[in-house]
Amino acid sequence: MKLLKITLFMSAISLASSILASNPFFETYKTPHQTIPFDNIKNEHYFPTFQEAMKLHTSEVDAITNNPAIPTFENTIVALEKSGSLLTKVSSPFYNLLSSETNDELQKIAEEISPLMSEHSNSIRLNLKLFARVKDVYLQKDKLKLTPEQQMLLKDTYEGFTKNGANFSDSDKAIYRELTKDLSLLTLQYGQNVLKETNKYSLLITNKDLLTGLPSDFLEVLASEAKKAGKTGWLLNLKTTCYVPFMKFADNRDLRRELYMAYTTKCMLGGDFDNLENVKKIANLRLNIANLLGYKSYADYELVDRMAEDKSKVYDLLDKLLVAYKPAAEKEYAEVQNYADKNGAYFKLQPWDWSYYSEKLKDERYSVNDEMLKPYFELEHVKKGVFGLATRLYGIKFTENKNIPVYNPEVDAYDVTDDKGNFLAVLYTDFHPRDGKRAGAWMSDFKAQWMDGKTDSRPQITIVMNFTRPTATKPALLTFDEVKTFLHEFGHSLHGMLTKCTYQSLSGTNVYRDFVELPSQIMENWASQKEFLDGFAVNYKTGEKIPVELIQKIKDSENYNIAYFCLRQLSFGYLDMAWHTIEKPFDGDVISYEKQAMASTQILPAIANTSMSTTFSHIFSGGYAAGYYSYKWAEVLDADAFSVFEKNGIFDKKTADSFRKNILEKGGTEHPMILYKRFRGQEPTIDALLIRNGIKIQ
Ligand SMILES: [Zn+2]
Repeated sequence: MKLLKITLFMSAISLASSILASNPFFETYKTPHQTIPFDNIKNEHYFPTFQEAMKLHTSEVDAITNNPAIPTFENTIVALEKSGSLLTKVSSPFYNLLSSETNDELQKIAEEISPLMSEHSNSIRLNLKLFARVKDVYLQKDKLKLTPEQQMLLKDTYEGFTKNGANFSDSDKAIYRELTKDLSLLTLQYGQNVLKETNKYSLLITNKDLLTGLPSDFLEVLASEAKKAGKTGWLLNLKTTCYVPFMKFADNRDLRRELYMAYTTKCMLGGDFDNLENVKKIANLRLNIANLLGYKSYADYELVDRMAEDKSKVYDLLDKLLVAYKPAAEKEYAEVQNYADKNGAYFKLQPWDWSYYSEKLKDERYSVNDEMLKPYFELEHVKKGVFGLATRLYGIKFTENKNIPVYNPEVDAYDVTDDKGNFLAVLYTDFHPRDGKRAGAWMSDFKAQWMDGKTDSRPQITIVMNFTRPTATKPALLTFDEVKTFLHEFGHSLHGMLTKCTYQSLSGTNVYRDFVELPSQIMENWASQKEFLDGFAVNYKTGEKIPVELIQKIKDSENYNIAYFCLRQLSFGYLDMAWHTIEKPFDGDVISYEKQAMASTQILPAIANTSMSTTFSHIFSGGYAAGYYSYKWAEVLDADAFSVFEKNGIFDKKTADSFRKNILEKGGTEHPMILYKRFRGQEPTIDALLIRNGIKIQ
């Protein structure tokens, strides 16, 4: 027995050391461009590497903290920026794969790692001796003759501490900890309430006559939902996959009203999942936190690190858009009402009628649908078109490199080079859905860009999509929206690939949140340009170019009811600001406060006793508090920036060059408004968006 135990013990040791010995994270990668050797990384490598990397990072930080030399920008701020390289090396493949190629084992490691990681980062953020050094450098900032990028790094580092309360007295620290703990519990509970209340509702229909108008495949889904619940008939619920098509297609007005009322009274009628009190509590807690940190309101605190800078600029944007779009939205409402009247509806259109009649009018006006467009958007053609656009604008080339290891055989890797043939970046593309890949589309990096002396360490970027895969008889054909998604994520990847910064925490897409969508959204503008489409959008069977009328139809249908949708977005923006600009604890009536905040944007009749605030997860349990405006902000920016291309030519090299030098290369090294003005010559205005949306004639 004894012997056996010893043998087991020995083999465990030799296993552990052999894992370390063969652990690729501890070696310099010998792959092309030192890309990640996915084929050599095994799941069991992650945990020990994370542990070792955190230890190493702690000792690097200790060396900075205990440095006997007086604090300088180099020995404190830059040293901190450069610390933790092994942790970055292991984190980037790990967290990327967790989204694009996950499995139970990786999920389990993530669960074990995440509390350790947050403890690790807290130990650095709450290191008072370290903060004292950082503050020392920060207080000398005006004397240090720093470049704008260095100033930005210093500001970010300093605020990384102070925004988390490093400057607090001990008693304030305790209060702050309580407030943030309460807030995180409440936001979590709020989100779960929305989910549970949504899932709680179902409505069984047993008479098929009540369901006329619904497409047959949708009826099938409803029937299978009923079957799953052990019932016969058709089961309705409040998930968007049911609610949205039902409101669009169901002929039965009473049922539409019933579903609408159930949807808009979630979490406000009492019961276990009510959020009325949570709304107040969350808004008030955020106010308390902002006050403690020295800000008048939560919006003041959030907007410090935004292109918009302060709430007056946010309101300025919302107000200007409201004035511009409201008359058009009223006209749209009148047109849909008129259409409904002609089709026998002798009543004033209510919110539960809107989708139904506007969808029918849309069909009548623009007979364009996905199936008509898909044959022109074969994935291989679109890829050529999108890569080719980057070549035309920025002179960069994409060459597939089969020697670069990939994490799944479906992934392709490219060497990206500039017009002189110099290496710029590695780009991975991963197009189709798989088990283990989450839904949606995103861009990310496996390695960020940075410079050290003469070394420019180039980035490794990935774009991940979920496009329908090819079959034995049909290539992968994209919808028009998917073409735009491709362009969007590719735009983010250009921001990542063309970047030229010194510090990796400021390079690429590491910019303020209301600025990050400019490089991506601007690319979507090319999607409906004839000159661009002519280059690649040919019917995969006949080789015929996409017809001009079809392109025009796409453009027209994109602007259908655009003013109504704009006002809807504005109503959410105003509501978000209303909750986050309070300067005194709120103790009023949630519903009436909300109705007042949204009143100016109302086009459809307002329905009493319904609420948005109780289910507005974006701002009450997501990351958009005092940030909902950024959707519209980004649209204004991308339209305004694209108008320069429209004026000078959509392939104009000079304009592209200026966009590259002033925006894409710069990352977050300077305030985005400064960067933007350098490209545009002025601050953005809403005019280009109005023209694009057909609200204003050019
Ligand atoms: Zn994006």
